[in-house]
Amino acid sequence: MPTEPSVSVGVAAGTPVVDPFEMADRYADFGGRIPAVAFARLRELLEDVDDVDVELRFSRNAEGRCEVVGHASFAGKANCHWCLEPVDVFVTAGVNLYVVASEIEASELGGAHDTHLLEEGSTTPIVALIEDDLILALPSRACTDEACPRRPEVAFPADDAEAQDQEKPFEILAKLKDSGQIRSE
Ligand SMILES: [Zn+2]
Repeated sequence: MPTEPSVSVGVAAGTPVVDPFEMADRYADFGGRIPAVAFARLRELLEDVDDVDVELRFSRNAEGRCEVVGHASFAGKANCHWCLEPVDVFVTAGVNLYVVASEIEASELGGAHDTHLLEEGSTTPIVALIEDDLILALPSRACTDEACPRRPEVAFPADDAEAQDQEKPFEILAKLKDSGQIRSE
């Protein structure tokens, strides 16, 4: 069940849109669950994406710049590179960026901060503020080494030795390995 955002902002079809500069002036928080359908790029990368929980704080820093800090998280399914099976993943991303009104302001901040360019007085979907961070937080491998039933073996597993004896192709491989003609990886 989607929860209502705790701050009343322009909410269109379940995908919240905010004016970050105005939110920063009020030091307002945004909290809510955003429907997965709003995250087009994330959904391209994963087998399944649940709704995304978001907590953000908008503020002005000492220089008056619009700062957005918080986190976003979701559960989903990713395809394992090895077994190609969908695996449950839980992704959480820290969000820490400045919303800037011009390229000049962005360059003033240097390369040390994430920035989001937005014309003063206009609005942006919350999704646009957090989707990059969620993509960067995706696990590089869905299966952990221990959990994946098809992770690459570095050597023939000892408990498979008997089974290999029953199969001619493996028997040949095993003999080659024993004689040192091929490496065991
Ligand atoms: Zn796997």
